[in-house]
Amino acid sequence: MLDLGIAGRKAIVCAASKGLGRACAMALSRAGVAVTITARTVEALEQTAAGIHAATGNKVTVVAGDITTEAGRQATLAACPQPDILVNNAGGPPHGDFRDWGLDEWNKAVNANMLTPIMLIKATVDGMCERKFGRIVNITSASVKSPIPILGMSNGARAGLTGFVAGLARQVARHNVTINNLLPGPFLTDRLRSGIEFEARKQNVSFEEMLEKRSASNPTGRVGDPEEFGAACAFLCAKASGFIVGQNLLLDGGAFNSTMG
Ligand code: NAP
Repeated sequence: MLDLGIAGRKAIVCAASKGLGRACAMALSRAGVAVTITARTVEALEQTAAGIHAATGNKVTVVAGDITTEAGRQATLAACPQPDILVNNAGGPPHGDFRDWGLDEWNKAVNANMLTPIMLIKATVDGMCERKFGRIVNITSASVKSPIPILGMSNGARAGLTGFVAGLARQVARHNVTINNLLPGPFLTDRLRSGIEFEARKQNVSFEEMLEKRSASNPTGRVGDPEEFGAACAFLCAKASGFIVGQNLLLDGGAFNSTMG
């Protein structure tokens, strides 16, 4: 296995009992990183921690709580006060029609997908700069680059985060602290399953038919495996990735059709 040069480092991986967060925590743990993982549901979180520890033998700490609240973030930072790596993640906003969303729904989405990562970056980035090593990866979405009609709040809130970190990434890079975003296209997680169910209901087809349609429409002929996402996250956190700064890496099997960029 490729040596990422980060064994012994400490990471906070937010929203990591399932899906993409879990895959990132697993890949970092495989690289020898002591991970602190968070989620709201204790049982699933503990199960995931046990699974990661069993697979890698490395230390896994759990913090149960809502990362979109101040209390959830403080508990996470108390468990891992000086992280070398921060993976920002939270549940995505609901699917639907923007006409059905009021200020409360928008505030929730902006809080979860823009302000929460910014608050965690604020709490950790100066320490990383002082220690001359830091890797921050924000899990955003392919919707930042190519808007998804039924995910208006994701399109909007995540674009705000992307704009903010584009500026900050250039201010901290001289301290060997990098900030980059990973933009998932369709990865087979609970979140994607609920999106497929939503579309299947709308089109009056079965879940399986919708998944097949979704897979066939991708250049790879399939949807992504979360493990592939975790590997990309660990790569961005590698010691040798210090010159990758302020990038938005789209992991979508080539679904976004462009010659470059
Ligand atoms: P998932 O399979 O539903 O997993 C979400 C994880 O986040 C769970 O561990 C969940 O545990 C935790 N979580 C959710 N809200 C939380 C909160 N407020 N505080 C702490 N933990 C929380 O979702 P996923 O597919 O991995 O998606 C991760 C992110 O990527 C989401 O923002 C999603 O919108 C985005 N995304 C995913 C895809 C995809 O294809 N999968 C594509 C584009 C974007 P608890 O519920 O127990 O808290």
